[in-house]
Amino acid sequence: MNASAAVAAAVVPAAGRGERLGPGAPKALRELGGVPLLVHAVRALARSRAVGLVVVAAPADGVAEVVALLDSHGLDDKDIRVVAGGATRQDSVRLGLAAIPDDVGIVLVHDAARPLVPVEVVDAVAAAVRAGAPAVVPAVPLADTVKRVEPNPGGAEPVLDTPERATLRAVQTPQGFDRATLVEVHAKALAEEAAGGADAPSVTDDAGLVERYGGTVVVVPGHEEAFKVTRPLDLVLAEAVLARRRAADAY
Ligand code: C5P
Repeated sequence: MNASAAVAAAVVPAAGRGERLGPGAPKALRELGGVPLLVHAVRALARSRAVGLVVVAAPADGVAEVVALLDSHGLDDKDIRVVAGGATRQDSVRLGLAAIPDDVGIVLVHDAARPLVPVEVVDAVAAAVRAGAPAVVPAVPLADTVKRVEPNPGGAEPVLDTPERATLRAVQTPQGFDRATLVEVHAKALAEEAAGGADAPSVTDDAGLVERYGGTVVVVPGHEEAFKVTRPLDLVLAEAVLARRRAADAY
């Protein structure tokens, strides 16, 4: 595939340790149905005709291993590049972004930890950016009521308030961006960090950076199968979803 302005590039931050999943290999390399999470995630992106290039940010000491892994799973015919990731997710995304050719105007950022995102979600996010939105996030309504608390890990936590649930969304990936917008907010965040601002951004997603610097972010429908594999129970659920898909494919 050829990267060009009409086609999006995807950055996959995959350099996290995934400690909440328990001891073992880096999270992106944990297996789901015998295949590493990262391979599932890259396949999900590569399946979209909107995506022409995938850049994986691998653990800094694991670049060669990730290249070999992607090759061994038949992903060597796509335009897939692997770069060394950084100390934080934000660093990994910035390093991945730097590896995208200048003529690519749309960038998607997708967590390796969301292996089962349906291609329809990838397509919808890319289409919304193509239609003019500078930043797009897929999201789903919440089942649980959410409370804001005064954090006190391990102890009782006073409740501050209860946001109205109908106004809340759980945000997934891939998040899509006009490339110049994403590059700009990452550069601003890096400069703020370097300036040592006590208030330096500790956002947990890329759209959060766009919001921080006054940009517009829009939501498109996400999908319940685009959930993030974070804790051991998420892997059990992901195995079940995959088994259901494989059974459906067999018919
Ligand atoms: O830790 P969390 O689940 O929020 O990580 C989200 C994604 O960011 C994962 O795919 C993880 O591999 C990635 N990440 C990264 N570099 C880091 C930390 C996390 O690429 N230093």
